[in-house]
Amino acid sequence: MKTVWDKYQKDDLKKVMGFSEDYKKYLDHAKTEREAVTEAIALAEKAGFKEFKGKGKLKAGDRIYFNNRGKSLALFVIGKEKLEKGMNILGAHIDSPRIDLKQNPLYEDNGLVLMDTHYYGGIKKYQWVAIPLALHGVVCKKDGTKVTVAIGEKEEEPILEISDLLIHLSRDQLAKTGAKVVEGEDLNALAGSIPAKGKKDESDLVKKNLLAILKKEYDIEEDDFISAELELVPAGKARDLGLDRSMVMGYGHDDRICAYTSLKAILESEKPERTSACILTDKEEIGSMGSTGAQSAFFENSVAELLNAQEGNYNELQLRHALENSYMLSSDVSAAFDPNYPGVNEAKNAAYFGKGISFNKFTGSGGKSGSSDAPAEYIAKIREIMDRNEVMFQFSELGRVDQGGGGTIAYILANKNMDVLDAGIPVQNMHAPYETASKGDIYEAYRAYKAFLKDA
Ligand code: MN
Ligand code: MN
Repeated sequence: MKTVWDKYQKDDLKKVMGFSEDYKKYLDHAKTEREAVTEAIALAEKAGFKEFKGKGKLKAGDRIYFNNRGKSLALFVIGKEKLEKGMNILGAHIDSPRIDLKQNPLYEDNGLVLMDTHYYGGIKKYQWVAIPLALHGVVCKKDGTKVTVAIGEKEEEPILEISDLLIHLSRDQLAKTGAKVVEGEDLNALAGSIPAKGKKDESDLVKKNLLAILKKEYDIEEDDFISAELELVPAGKARDLGLDRSMVMGYGHDDRICAYTSLKAILESEKPERTSACILTDKEEIGSMGSTGAQSAFFENSVAELLNAQEGNYNELQLRHALENSYMLSSDVSAAFDPNYPGVNEAKNAAYFGKGISFNKFTGSGGKSGSSDAPAEYIAKIREIMDRNEVMFQFSELGRVDQGGGGTIAYILANKNMDVLDAGIPVQNMHAPYETASKGDIYEAYRAYKAFLKDA
């Protein structure tokens, strides 16, 4: 099997490893959709991007971003051609499966304080117990202030945990099916056990003590959880995997791995022929709905603003043209072939580690249900660009026909009548607390995105 590792020379290997070092740093600082946006803006501003202010005429080479509520982002490098002629668009999502705190989370039970949760996205719940969890997010207070929280990443900081049942007493539990071994309502995180000094007959003293700590250290009251977004995510950093260091294991590859590589590609786009665009979107894991999901008007509104700035007066037909003349690579992780579970794949159409960026003509499930199914003509165009730029790529499907399936944001943009092809980086253990990807594929994806922005 020919892989990227056959292709890379010594100098290439240095670049591949260096790129992954930067990626790991991004992953460590971008554990939530909000943090992913904050980090992306910091990198973009360093690369000369400015937030759109609506003033002044646009010129080729201008570098602009739109920040949507700190949870999704659209970046543009204005091309030499008019926007109406279309854009080359990269898209990926920055939300990942996780365990959210409920709006009324805190309770005391037999001298322990727990936090009740509601999981986000598709998870195997049994994977999220008995591992160190960090608490990230924001608490919005009635006076308009916002407390940003990230507890449990530094070694000296405390962590939280959702307990698992000891094996010694698990006879009944282990007779259950995997989906029922750990159930959603039982995902309660252990948060404290020291009681406040109170009267003997006073109840909930442990909770009282914990609330005092929250008040003192973060100025958070119990009511404030109502207007909070607090996410439990695996604590700790992304690590090199394999004795040859060829892979990265970390939380949230899906889909920050495609977000980071897409972002890096647009940050390096200089005066392109067609306008380069990059959408980093939220809420993909729960259906892309809402103001910060891919179905939001946010991206279209941003393009309308740019057209208004470029043309001087906004015309809806120009927006329709700009969208339908665009090309898009919609990126989301693919399922990497796993020798431990070969039966779920059909070998000729599986994605493999080290074979480069993975394209999918369609996603969906059953008879391709729910997929936008990219036109063959457009796929031919992308193949030609990849070959011309010596990017290694593979074409795959998500597993055997009728084995399962999944969706991406591709159809949402394709519905605007543009050509969209699904692309992505193969990962193992998708949606587990720690996922695995090949450094070679990460680097080829970045090279693929650069080639696409330049030549599509
Ligand atoms: Mn996913
Ligand atoms: Mn995904």
